Amino acid sequence: MKKDPNAIILDKLRDEYPDAGTMLNFSSLFELLIAVVLSAQSTDEQVNRATARLFKQFNTADKLAALELTELEDMIKGVGIFRNKAKHIKQLASIIQDKYQGEVPADFDKLLELPGVGRKTANVIMAVGFKQPGLGVDTHVQRVANRLGLVQTKTPEQTEYSLKQLIPKKHWSEAHHLLIFHGRRICKARKPDCHNCVLQKQCARNFAK
Ligand code: SF4
Repeated sequence: MKKDPNAIILDKLRDEYPDAGTMLNFSSLFELLIAVVLSAQSTDEQVNRATARLFKQFNTADKLAALELTELEDMIKGVGIFRNKAKHIKQLASIIQDKYQGEVPADFDKLLELPGVGRKTANVIMAVGFKQPGLGVDTHVQRVANRLGLVQTKTPEQTEYSLKQLIPKKHWSEAHHLLIFHGRRICKARKPDCHNCVLQKQCARNFAK
């Protein structure tokens, strides 16, 4: 029987990136949530530098909720749109403290209600934090999935739904990490390195043809 082309893509990426996984540093679900909220429009290195400072003293919902906004802004200054994120993190910490007794809810819809938490973040928390099926779509997943021809979509939300149809549930989280790794290392936004890409044969766009 002929192998499903999507499964071939995942197999090849799996061989290429055996280390695929989150690069964010965290030691609790709450820390993971804050790190993922901080990661929008920022590199993992920027986030890890900021959280190394922040989590030394403020790594629980009650501590972050009580932190002055300006102090929080100062601590996360190195990440993109930090003022907005500081506001969201403070509100989110208060809600988690008051409504969920300091615990991150293991529920996609409840996560989505938190300030600063979109579908990508909620998917990542479910997948990485709770080991539940989740396929978050960031800018890398959006770009690589479209170039490969896995999906033809305009928005991350459409991409998430399409990929979830294509890929078996048990591989959602893995697919998220593999597509991100490929996007960061080979299928870059400006200069995709198609000559060195293991998916040349499978790719709809292959600029090296
Ligand atoms: S062949 Fe080029 S466009 Fe296609 S996935 Fe590889 S790097 Fe990206």
